[in-house]
Amino acid sequence: MTTPAVVVTGAAAGIGRATVELFAERGYGVVAVDPDAARLTELETITNVVTLVGDVSTEETNVAAVRLALDTFGQLAASVLNAGIGGAPPIEAPGAIEQLDRIHAVNVRGAALGIRAAAPALRAAGGGAIVVTASGAGLRGDPYTWAYNTTKAAAINLVRSAALDYGYQGIRINAIAPGMTITPRTAAVRADPALHASITRRIPLGRWGDPREQAKVIYFLASPESSYITGAVIPSDGGLTASNGFLL
Ligand code: NAD
Repeated sequence: MTTPAVVVTGAAAGIGRATVELFAERGYGVVAVDPDAARLTELETITNVVTLVGDVSTEETNVAAVRLALDTFGQLAASVLNAGIGGAPPIEAPGAIEQLDRIHAVNVRGAALGIRAAAPALRAAGGGAIVVTASGAGLRGDPYTWAYNTTKAAAINLVRSAALDYGYQGIRINAIAPGMTITPRTAAVRADPALHASITRRIPLGRWGDPREQAKVIYFLASPESSYITGAVIPSDGGLTASNGFLL
């Protein structure tokens, strides 16, 4: 039997995990990819979810994920290239450039490899969609996260450029640019009351996003519901990128 399938990377936690759950609920087969084998195992109890322990910065992982989707479900409908990391020290600090290289390998190389692996299978299916999880940090500067911001800006222009190359093949490629979202990645920021309050005050909707809210946008961009959208970057950030940062 053929079930439309989606590959989701960075699947074991946060936005990726919520995305796996949403696609599975809506009848898709899901290949969940993450290096965190322990957390990934928790997803194996969900019907129609299979897992792959792997690192998106390798071609091997990306190719294996698509092959697993085809072998298990028969057809690839979409790829959600969600894995992302940050964490570089200040630009003058020892090791900063090596850390930039690692962040780039996951956030940009990983997205490019994901597109490269998915495209033949999507073409064979007569078309499909790719969604890259970028960030509002790729649309403007943010203090103290220069390497992350740089790679997310690159991921956004990868999406725009690849959308041009693949549009005529029926493959739509879009990005979501999440704002502040309640995931393990942001736990340290949320644990600092002053920092948390100062960020929250700048969000027009006055609150942080839930991973499920991001998953719904990803689902929209990956499904035929968004059939005329490609090369777009959709902020999902409570209005943060609409603001110039001034407070009332
Ligand atoms: P998270 O850190 O909570 O979860 C990310 C998952 O990705 C983890 O399970 C981790 O093991 C996995 N991962 C890390 N390196 C990987 C690799 N090399 N290959 C495959 N998987 C890998 O993160 P999150 O907050 O859910 O973020 C998901 C995406 O959303 C990221 O691309 C992030 O940059 C982006 N984003 C998050 C926020 C936010 O506020 N949480 C805001 C903007 C953008």
